[in-house]
Amino acid sequence: MKENYVMPAQLDSWDYVRIQAQLDLQCKRCGTCCIDTDPIDLFPKDIRRIASFLNITEEKAIQEYTIPHPTISDHLAMKHSLPCGFYDLMKKRCNIYPARPTVCRCCPFLSPEQLGLQGIKLYRDCPASKEGYERIQKNVNSLKNPDQRTRKKLEKEFSKLLQIK
Ligand code: SF4
Ligand code: SF4
Repeated sequence: MKENYVMPAQLDSWDYVRIQAQLDLQCKRCGTCCIDTDPIDLFPKDIRRIASFLNITEEKAIQEYTIPHPTISDHLAMKHSLPCGFYDLMKKRCNIYPARPTVCRCCPFLSPEQLGLQGIKLYRDCPASKEGYERIQKNVNSLKNPDQRTRKKLEKEFSKLLQIK
């Protein structure tokens, strides 16, 4: 399993399918990924976004909400997970949704372990995963060979999502 995001030098044909599937995702807000993910990776941009959303300094955000990543040196992870400290179990929602981290924005189709796969992994525990793939299944062949305009659009969206610095 890949543990971190590495921006591929070149996207492969399945990556275009994945990006479109993620853009079209209809998350069911079941909360499974917020309850079961550990560690929850945090990148510099995530810290800035969370600090700004909570109206605190980046230093304070790091101090209050992060720990050193357990497996990747020089990286941070969410301090509280299983469930995530920002998940409201009663209301079943993310308390920082507009500022949620990159890994949350990329779940499930652009999770790090998916990038580079020759296919799409469907997660049994994510109800949006199977449904999302079924929705775009008929377009898979055209998405794997996108025209120039679609290719540019998907690359731009992907690059926006993976701005982690
Ligand atoms: S930050 Fe929000 S979306 Fe991400 S795991 Fe925590 S509760 Fe879920
Ligand atoms: S597991 Fe899937 S459906 Fe459930 S909250 Fe996460 S992305 Fe949405």
